[in-house]
Amino acid sequence: MSSPATVAAALREGAATLAASLAEVGDTARLDAELLMAHALGVSRSDLLLRHMAAAVPGGFAALIARRAAAEPVAYILGEQEFFGLPFRVTPDVLIPRADSEVLVEAALGHAAARGIAGAKLLDCGTGSGCLLLAVLHGLPGAMGVGIDRSAPALAIAAENARRLKLADRARLVLADWHEAGWERDLGAPFDLILANPPYVEADAPLDSGVRDHEPASALFAGPEGLDDYFCLIPQLPALLAPDGLALLEIGATQAEAVADIAAASGLASRLYRDLAGRARVLALSHVGAAA
Ligand code: GLN
Repeated sequence: MSSPATVAAALREGAATLAASLAEVGDTARLDAELLMAHALGVSRSDLLLRHMAAAVPGGFAALIARRAAAEPVAYILGEQEFFGLPFRVTPDVLIPRADSEVLVEAALGHAAARGIAGAKLLDCGTGSGCLLLAVLHGLPGAMGVGIDRSAPALAIAAENARRLKLADRARLVLADWHEAGWERDLGAPFDLILANPPYVEADAPLDSGVRDHEPASALFAGPEGLDDYFCLIPQLPALLAPDGLALLEIGATQAEAVADIAAASGLASRLYRDLAGRARVLALSHVGAAA
């Protein structure tokens, strides 16, 4: 087959290649091809569509399509993913921010607004790219936050994102693991808001190959039922949470009841938030008796 002469023709061909290669990219094949082409040209996607369709095909586009056709996530190829309207640098050392997690940021901002705690103190457990912590800090200009992670390479990405978003002076990033005694000692508890998107996927869950083969396993899997990290972290939350503070935990769609039970056994009340698709996505935990 001859090489396509124009960007427009290469996009058609690239999208067809992606659609044929992987069932899971089927419905985003055209979008993915456009994002990769814009990246190869060094322009935005809207600029690509408005101004570059008749241009010559940039060298490197075919290689990007080949990577995507082998299930590498677009965000890792581009090195960036938007979350809550902000650009985050991502590498395979961090989980790719998901739109599903934006409900957690909204709940955090809503709690701070309702309580009038613009100067809130935040803790983000398992910060990864920093997306939860930094999106909340961006929305609360008076707040300070600590993000912890057990992965040093992930913390380096979070630090880069804090700098790029001009939030480095309000975000402290600390290497720590909630499985280890004393991990919380110097973090500055109690916190008004605790955020966490811990690993919660069942060890043998059927995941898309883009997730299973490319995203960090240590950020995804948490034992046979995906509950291991909740069993470890939730009993530690009462000591970390201010009297009327709120802990917002992302959960798997089928885990609301099990996680609420763990919370209740730790003296915490829970309230469920759903994501845009109507799935259970976040449990908000507070001390029993605190105003909800
Ligand atoms: N939402 C992610 C997924 O479904 C899982 C994130 C996590 O385990 N914290 O792939």
